[in-house]
Amino acid sequence: MPQDAIQIYPQPTADGKAFVLRVRVVIRGAVQGVGFRPFVFRLASDLGVKGWVVNSASGVFLEAEASESVLHEFLRRLKSEKPAIASVQSLESTYLDPVGYGSFEIRESTGGEKTALILPDIATCPDCLREIFDLANRRFQYPFTNCTNCGPRFTIIESLPYDRPRTTMKKFKMCEECSREYHDPANRRFHTQPNACPQCGPQLELWDANGKQVARKHEALLTAAEAVRFGQIVAVKGLGGFHLLADGRNEETVQELRRRKRREEKPFALMFPSYEAVLRHCEATEVEQRLLRAPESPIVLVRRRPEADELAPSVAPRNPYLGAMLPYTPLHHLLMHELTFPVIATSGNLSEEPICIDEQEAVSRLRGIADVFLVHNRPILRHVDDSVAREMGGRELLIRRARGYAPLPVYVDGEMPSVLAVGAHQKNTIAASVGSQVFISQHIGDLENEASYEAFRGAIRTFEMLYELKPSALACDMHPDYMSTQYAQASAAPKVSVQHHYAHILSCMAENCLRPPALGISWDGSGYGPDGTVWGGEILRISDPGFSRVAHLRPFLLPGGEKAVREPRRCALALLYEMFGDDAFDQSRLPAEVFSTEELRVLRTMLSQKINSPWTTSVGRLFDGFASLLNLRHSARFEGQAAMELEFALSEAPADTSYPYKICTSGDTLILDWEPAVRSLLTDACVQLAEATARFHNMLVEMGVEVAKRIGEKKVVLSGGCFQNKYLTERFLSKLRAAGFHPYWHQRVPPNDGGIALGQLIGAAEQLKGN
Ligand SMILES: [Zn+2]
Ligand SMILES: [Zn+2]
Ligand SMILES: [Zn+2]
Repeated sequence: MPQDAIQIYPQPTADGKAFVLRVRVVIRGAVQGVGFRPFVFRLASDLGVKGWVVNSASGVFLEAEASESVLHEFLRRLKSEKPAIASVQSLESTYLDPVGYGSFEIRESTGGEKTALILPDIATCPDCLREIFDLANRRFQYPFTNCTNCGPRFTIIESLPYDRPRTTMKKFKMCEECSREYHDPANRRFHTQPNACPQCGPQLELWDANGKQVARKHEALLTAAEAVRFGQIVAVKGLGGFHLLADGRNEETVQELRRRKRREEKPFALMFPSYEAVLRHCEATEVEQRLLRAPESPIVLVRRRPEADELAPSVAPRNPYLGAMLPYTPLHHLLMHELTFPVIATSGNLSEEPICIDEQEAVSRLRGIADVFLVHNRPILRHVDDSVAREMGGRELLIRRARGYAPLPVYVDGEMPSVLAVGAHQKNTIAASVGSQVFISQHIGDLENEASYEAFRGAIRTFEMLYELKPSALACDMHPDYMSTQYAQASAAPKVSVQHHYAHILSCMAENCLRPPALGISWDGSGYGPDGTVWGGEILRISDPGFSRVAHLRPFLLPGGEKAVREPRRCALALLYEMFGDDAFDQSRLPAEVFSTEELRVLRTMLSQKINSPWTTSVGRLFDGFASLLNLRHSARFEGQAAMELEFALSEAPADTSYPYKICTSGDTLILDWEPAVRSLLTDACVQLAEATARFHNMLVEMGVEVAKRIGEKKVVLSGGCFQNKYLTERFLSKLRAAGFHPYWHQRVPPNDGGIALGQLIGAAEQLKGN
């Protein structure tokens, strides 16, 4: 199938005005046996869409081919015109190359793969929402209302098969009425495992800072809302863990939260009381509007409206975007109904630690952070953070894949050997293959400490239990010091280590169902290079099997190694040192206050003696260096801050000009030389920041496109942390297309290290097949 796709792409539409694309859609929920397939067929015929639809044990699958705009319309109407009785729990779409379908057909139902499919936790459905605000309903104001179409799943499952006695709901015995609903096939709570009501289900309590109960049930909720209104910080036990809630308009409170949580400047996400409230604060595009209201209910990055801003400045300092989400459990709906204003909803943890899931644990771990605790007695079995999504190239892109998405599989073409991939170090996730499905865990976090390492092992245990894994190999990064690598090394199973940036590219290829050959551009933070240097600005030619490094950034010494990640000023100095050698210190080109004399002395020794100063080709560090040289940021309060601020410094209509650069050759390898850009930056001091940052971004794109032209490979794959940057990615897309290339980027899997596990798995599978 993918081989055909390669030959057919690009295929103009009948009128020759656009290109045909294929979209693969997986719909889960109450969609089988409710006339859904005939509905899809009629819609497809109406719009002239080609492809097929099929029912399987794990949902409705369909593929549709048409121009991109027709497909957008098709997807929109798929949701808005579906049969009234159908209820969609999740709808995942992935854009792929077309295969040239001639008609639209309803295919015979398949039994489907019998892999037990664990559903993610789904946002409250409209029916349940109506009930909790209906005075006459027995679930009026009940915060644990759910049905077959919504509510907790992944966070409460202890083992399979998915049945109430094997969930954390086992301690609640259903009352007669709930039991009647549960056993009635005509009821929408038929076999709803977490079914509950105020008589028989979980209940709320409000605890003070010491864990002493001060209120119960609805009074607990009202008191918690009062505390938020009063400027206090309230820890709320939600679906996949604790949130910290605080009034998003109260600057003093927000600053206090930052101080207590030791989170200096990283933007906070906001929960808005309603969709309309989001639109009052933000300009949401059609894709963003759809994401905000999707059953997955992620945090969506949306451009804020400066004019309508009642928010405290410290919510997201100097950030033109807001991370916005809507209430997704009855508890959040009831709370936000009381509050009526945007509140910060940030994960209940100390920076760098996994989110708290247990109330006793929360009282001790969040001591000194939360003033009060709104808790309940339904145990959360595993932590699942909020997902984060943004629009990229007119499609959805997941930046953090967790609640609402995990642990749903990504479908790859062809059968895979059974492999467990343990991911990288930052934003760790794990992945496991079962047939042609790759299950990717929820976001685990940076494996920096014992708590996150324990969460990592917990995720592996969960996968082993749910999918009865007996992996024929473990896939890991090449970095010997990563905790994930060490976990793999300690295991008895065969190990395959996969180079970091190769894994990035393979991950993007896998979700786009793309087979080699391809050219992979991996602009990234850092990853272990096989030559022992720190890679991160790599262009790889992907062949079958393996890869070759056809181009990379001109290397520079990184004084302090990982320490430089928090200090963009070190990267600036590193670039200057590479250009001017010791003169970089004599005629210091950095503003005088950036380094103390003592610091400069130490750095000079480090660089000249090459002490703890690895060579790097990282584009992430190049971003840092430029941010410092442009006097934008010399030290970062969180990972990626300097790069983010360079993106944010772009004007609404960024300039089209680029900094100069050179491409040199070293043997078979092209070297992307940034020196002319730094020289231009240093000599042309009158250039405005917005113009300079546009030149920098544009240079990176031109370098990539230039290499693509020299190599001549049509399919160009973009992956790595830098492709969270909207301007960089979208400019790449348009420039590559204009030059006749077919660019591919991420959709369901993050471009950052959260997507590495999938790529490792593919890399390992390839190697196993080769043996
Ligand atoms: Zn429901
Ligand atoms: Zn009940
Ligand atoms: Zn990476």
